[in-house]
Amino acid sequence: MSPRRTRRAHDAAFQRCVNPDCSKTFDLGQVLSSCPSCGELLDVAYDWDRLEPPRRLQDISRARRGVRERLDGSGVWRFRALLPFAPEDSCVTIGEGRTLLRPAPRVAEYVGLRPDRVFLQYEGMNPSGSFKDNGMAGAFTHARMVGAKVAACASTGNTSASLAAFAAATGDMKAVVFIGSGKIAMGKLSQALEYGARTFEIEGDFDDAMARVLEVSREAGIYLVNSVNPFRLEGQKTIMYRILEGLGWHAPDWVLCPGGNLGNSSAFGKAFAELAELGLLKRLPRLAVINATGARTLSRLVNQEGLRWNGGRYDRARVNEFFRTLAERAHTIASAIEINRPVNLSKCLRALEVTNGVVRDCSDEEILDAKAVVGLEGIGCEPASAASVAGLKRLVGEGAIDRDAVVACVLTGHLLKAPEATIGYHSCDGSLARYGLGPGRFPNRPVRVPNDLEKILEAVRAAQ
Ligand SMILES: *Cc1c(COP(=O)(O)O)cnc(C)c1O
Ligand SMILES: [Zn+2]
Repeated sequence: MSPRRTRRAHDAAFQRCVNPDCSKTFDLGQVLSSCPSCGELLDVAYDWDRLEPPRRLQDISRARRGVRERLDGSGVWRFRALLPFAPEDSCVTIGEGRTLLRPAPRVAEYVGLRPDRVFLQYEGMNPSGSFKDNGMAGAFTHARMVGAKVAACASTGNTSASLAAFAAATGDMKAVVFIGSGKIAMGKLSQALEYGARTFEIEGDFDDAMARVLEVSREAGIYLVNSVNPFRLEGQKTIMYRILEGLGWHAPDWVLCPGGNLGNSSAFGKAFAELAELGLLKRLPRLAVINATGARTLSRLVNQEGLRWNGGRYDRARVNEFFRTLAERAHTIASAIEINRPVNLSKCLRALEVTNGVVRDCSDEEILDAKAVVGLEGIGCEPASAASVAGLKRLVGEGAIDRDAVVACVLTGHLLKAPEATIGYHSCDGSLARYGLGPGRFPNRPVRVPNDLEKILEAVRAAQ
């Protein structure tokens, strides 16, 4: 790439406020977590006329000539033609996004769809075990462009694991992590500690930690990698590109994902909106965002209060009132989505409008049963991930999803993130009672046998 083209590509990408009545733009060198003028979220925006977007869907992952192989090995940067905000030598990768769309006939049977039409996009196979690595590649790239030296996040666990892994692997930045006390799954905490992140337990939950990290990063000039960072969402768009790729460049009818801070759903909506804008996709998949019942702000606002994006003029006063009067704390075994104040709410409303999307909430029982069925595919996901499958079952049961539909569920994180939930479920040891959970539908209890050959043989035969 000639220096001249690099500069052109650079100028053609910028940041823009999502509020249509503001629409202020900012150049890429500014580090912002919201619009300084109106307080809304920012997008990374592109002037596609000055770039070279692919002309056919099947070309979106084609490597451009002369490009270093390093980037083509990344499941994020091999799609860089659709997130062209960084010069190629600034792009950070630790091997994120090498994930596959997998057929899931048992899940299909469980939810009542055709066995060859249900797919799982298993993002647990990322370097730190969750989809967050897709976004972190984008955030670290921007951080490198602006020369940041310290990065921070508030986290239910996976963002901190991803931040810590990227910081350690690249040596670019120091990592500072804020978690709610006692609110983090063991696997995730182990990662932050092992990868050397400075870890602070705030007395409180994720929503408390999130509010604090916004203040801390502003006061201390620390680079924030939570999903209010628009560069993170650019990386997460690629999860959708890989689903399209996995389906031979055909769009599924539905994409389902869990909804926590709503960064993923927002990124997915942006990915599809841009593909439509570029004329690469005529019919967009419908998005279903699934909350846990114990953390169902989005579901309440959309389904009970009728909140809509409304071309960007959504009822902000009503949202503020909702949060002002929200007294209860989020509570669900799906700790990655145990969030009552989702920071990307407005962008998610936009994604729902663009994709004619829906929102549902599922109980912890439904989520853990769905997770056990996913497990029978030989795919291990953490509780929050299984919300997408639980939501699928519910939407098929309601008749909202057609029985012939082609469906992709995003499995956001790896089983080993939260082994305590899985063992509690299968062993029925009562440890999940604090979530109000009794025995589930698909337990697989370990069998205790004395150390005696006859008795062991007897038990093995009985199990067949
Ligand atoms: C972060 C996370 C979520 C929630 O994603 P949002 O983008 O915050 O809605 C869901 N599942 C897992 C495993 C996560 O790590
Ligand atoms: Zn603005």
